[in-house]
Amino acid sequence: MMLKWLDVLKFSNNGNPEPDCRVSKTDEQWKSILTPEAYRITRQKGTEKAHSSDMCTLLDPGRYACVNCETPLFDSEEKFESGTGWPSFNQPIKNNAIAYHKDKGFGMYRIETVCNTCDAHLGHVFQDGPRPSGLRYCINAAAMKKLDTNLRKVTLGGGCFWCTEAIFQQLKGVADVKSGYSGGKVMNPTYREVTSGLTGHAEAIEITYNRDEISFYDLVNIHLMTHDPTTLNKQGADKGTQYRSIIFYRNDEERDASMSAINEVQEAYDEMIVTDLQMFEAFYEAEEYHQGYFNQNPTRAYCKVVIDPKLKKFKEKYTDRLLKDN
Ligand SMILES: [Zn+2]
Repeated sequence: MMLKWLDVLKFSNNGNPEPDCRVSKTDEQWKSILTPEAYRITRQKGTEKAHSSDMCTLLDPGRYACVNCETPLFDSEEKFESGTGWPSFNQPIKNNAIAYHKDKGFGMYRIETVCNTCDAHLGHVFQDGPRPSGLRYCINAAAMKKLDTNLRKVTLGGGCFWCTEAIFQQLKGVADVKSGYSGGKVMNPTYREVTSGLTGHAEAIEITYNRDEISFYDLVNIHLMTHDPTTLNKQGADKGTQYRSIIFYRNDEERDASMSAINEVQEAYDEMIVTDLQMFEAFYEAEEYHQGYFNQNPTRAYCKVVIDPKLKKFKEKYTDRLLKDN
């Protein structure tokens, strides 16, 4: 669930969510492992000078962890350039990664953010951030360390997410596939709301992949060949904008790669490809019972009829190179 300002207020008033685990050390122990600057900021509620770190403008993929306990706090996907001189995020990596406390210091009423695992002071959160959450986590760079990664994310829609999820889970280089909703105007939509067709969301999957093993271009290509990208707002018997064929790009490079893939795959179809290209904004995970539907329910009628034939066609096409051994 994406957090909003109201959630932040509730946490600061009524208590914070339980962290996955706790780390506690004495002041002396913290002092011995942190730089003096990191110690001053995280253990003594300090603030670094604005524009004191290159981390503000850094937008490379990766995660940002607490410099004290190394628990991941933010993902670069949620980072944005606020112009304030401090690294800024729209959302934490998990709802329970951060704890919120009322801070009435310096004659202001603010919400302080701390690492929920080790209580390190991080910065503050404000309600003047960009869409969709409207939050701006203003965090001291010295309170974080960047964890580099070759994992990337791509968000695709091609009709019912049960079918598309089952296909991508078969691929080498794919670390994780989640079913959800993307491309609409409503925060934290439910399945029922999305199927009404009124939220503007498409049923979508979010694929986490290792870019050293499979490329964005390959994934988009496979996507275009494993659903019907030529039917507008429709996939087989499923009709409505929530079933539209869509590729969400995160930068110009991905947009260009998507257009090349469409051009290449067009030859395989008689009809015109109508796949939508849209700038990625947010992905909302579907309810728990939707995740891994095919693997959990291989004998259910829906999967037999709709998913099996698609997978079969797909497995024949992408044999050794792309498929996991199973
Ligand atoms: Zn921490």
